[in-house]
Amino acid sequence: MSRDLTVGPEVREAVGGEYADELVRGPWPDDFTCIRCAGEGFISQGIPVTVSAVTHPDGVRITLQHATCGPSELTCDDRPMPAVGDQANLTPILRRDIDPIAACIFSASFMALGADSPWGDRTSLLAEALLADGFEPVLGNPIEEFDGGSLVPEWLLIYDDAVRITSRTGAVVYEGQEPVEVTDWVDALREQRRCLLIAGEGIELDTDPMLGLAAAVYAGRVVAGVIRARVIRPSGTKSPKRNRGSR
Ligand SMILES: [Zn+2]
Repeated sequence: MSRDLTVGPEVREAVGGEYADELVRGPWPDDFTCIRCAGEGFISQGIPVTVSAVTHPDGVRITLQHATCGPSELTCDDRPMPAVGDQANLTPILRRDIDPIAACIFSASFMALGADSPWGDRTSLLAEALLADGFEPVLGNPIEEFDGGSLVPEWLLIYDDAVRITSRTGAVVYEGQEPVEVTDWVDALREQRRCLLIAGEGIELDTDPMLGLAAAVYAGRVVAGVIRARVIRPSGTKSPKRNRGSR
């Protein structure tokens, strides 16, 4: 199935031609939630989708909708952009080498570009904010190549009956269900007291997380850093399974 994604001229101008082309070409974004009817679907399945954009004082937010639910249009909102945290997924992975470290991919479905920079580029707001906090850009496979680095100051992952990640300012960046069937991951977290956090917007995790990650890395949308982690729940205890995702 080929993608049928429409970016109108006004939206194209607001997000920049290069970014618009990337959206049209894919493979990212793929799974989407319609901003109008809240229906979910996959762009790769050929569903006609239109891209809209909302300009905020601090950047541009992109939304997707069924073509049958509305055209590609540009609107303006005088309020600052909403926070990222409630529109994200977390996928735990374990880096298995001499020094096993729990890693996780944090993928914000929220797509946002920063306000115009002096040289005219628009960049991912999420990546921009994380780089400012001490994360580093990812250029290859972050699981294999990341050397651990120093801890990103004041970021913290807490594992209890949910996973909560807080940023330098103490803001909750992510709060969601515990990853299921990841005993090794929690053991590594408990032992190492740190976690490699790989973060980006729109990393497709539904089919093959590593493929989705590679595509996002290629597009320059991924950053990573090691953050402190704390496991609160005693070893061996379980909590009821919950549904995947936090959306
Ligand atoms: Zn819809």
